[in-house]
Amino acid sequence: MTNPDWLTKGWPHIWLPYAQMKTAPAPLAVVGAEGTRLKLADGRALIDGVASWWTVAHGYNHPHIQGVVKRQLETLPHVMLGGLAHEQAYTLARRLAALMPGDLNRVFFSDSGSVAVEVALKMAIQFWINRGERGRTKIVSFKGGYHGDTFATMAICDPDEGMHSLFKGVLNEQIVVDLPRDEATSAAFDTLLAREAKHVAAVIVEPLVQGAAGMKFHTPETLARIAASARRHGVLLILDEIFTGFARTGTMFAMEQAGVVPDIVCLGKALTGGTAPLAATVASERVFAGFLSDDPAAALMHGPTFMGNALACAAANASLDLFEREPRVAQAGRIERMLREGLEAARGLAHVRDVRVKGAIGVIEVQGFDPRTLRQKLIDKGVWIRPFGNIVYTTPPLTISDADLATLTDAMVSVVREAR
Ligand SMILES: *Cc1c(COP(=O)(O)O)cnc(C)c1O
Repeated sequence: MTNPDWLTKGWPHIWLPYAQMKTAPAPLAVVGAEGTRLKLADGRALIDGVASWWTVAHGYNHPHIQGVVKRQLETLPHVMLGGLAHEQAYTLARRLAALMPGDLNRVFFSDSGSVAVEVALKMAIQFWINRGERGRTKIVSFKGGYHGDTFATMAICDPDEGMHSLFKGVLNEQIVVDLPRDEATSAAFDTLLAREAKHVAAVIVEPLVQGAAGMKFHTPETLARIAASARRHGVLLILDEIFTGFARTGTMFAMEQAGVVPDIVCLGKALTGGTAPLAATVASERVFAGFLSDDPAAALMHGPTFMGNALACAAANASLDLFEREPRVAQAGRIERMLREGLEAARGLAHVRDVRVKGAIGVIEVQGFDPRTLRQKLIDKGVWIRPFGNIVYTTPPLTISDADLATLTDAMVSVVREAR
């Protein structure tokens, strides 16, 4: 099969994400997408089991999102948010605040998840500085976590599985600990916070599902324990819902399952339904109030050029319309049931270590071989799934049909069964 001209000519000039460019397999040329299907240049169609890195909640090219974005394009694609205002950003801020529990009412926009986390860290550290507590500069995070690829976020990823181990020694030293999953680890976590509290600005965690570092799950009790320890020792709690938000774990936000209300929440990924880059950092009234002052130096000095981009905010507002009108949370529940049934056949296979499902996330953890070797076999079966680390996983669009979901799980189980 020959590649389109633009791919051949551009290939010597492109640098791909997370790829050893010497050996990276040639990427697939995509010329269109519809619903859960990617249309390839050679005429094939693949069912997208990844939802473009977990963003495409409503399927590709949803007519409602397209219509809203087209209208916005014709009136005002972008205007700076410093000193100027536009309806889409202000409406979106109000709607996101209404979706959040407690008084998480203040929305700071940015254009990528990593920056949303950077902003959360900056808010947390400056919150204490503004109160005269200059020693609280450390962040506590958890092994198995992933919070982004920028320098501050690399330092709070899992030191080994977070993809950034090369940068040890360059990064700020942070405190990365075990999740409090049982009595021993809970006691250790609480003791650590008690001891370090005066140096710690915040604890950050991906609630219920640690995504990019290996799709590991923890219980609502673990999340509640983290929140309780943070409260007890007067440390801020940041929840990174960039992956888990927007129904991925079976509720609109994962924090709902533990009844936890943090001080700061990070959103991204599915925020625009996979249409445009947009992220948000949502702060509680208490955190926001910590920046109100007659001293100009107490202000939050941050402002991404494209923050609150009108096209992206329009897409996000349209995406929220769909979450209101259509049963996305119920669909995540249906996907969860089908994933449980469909992936069960992989349990007990020779090189399968674990099969786990949470909401619209289905994972087969393998051992004894590199699952990236399955990539081409999955494509041959008509599905786009991107194994990494030691897992083969799917996070389909929430609108996926039963038949397409069955094709995905059958493909996953059969390539793992045949793997050597
Ligand atoms: C993807 C992700 C990020 C980083 O988002 P980018 O948009 O890739 O910068 C941060 N935190 C979590 C939990 C993520 O899944």
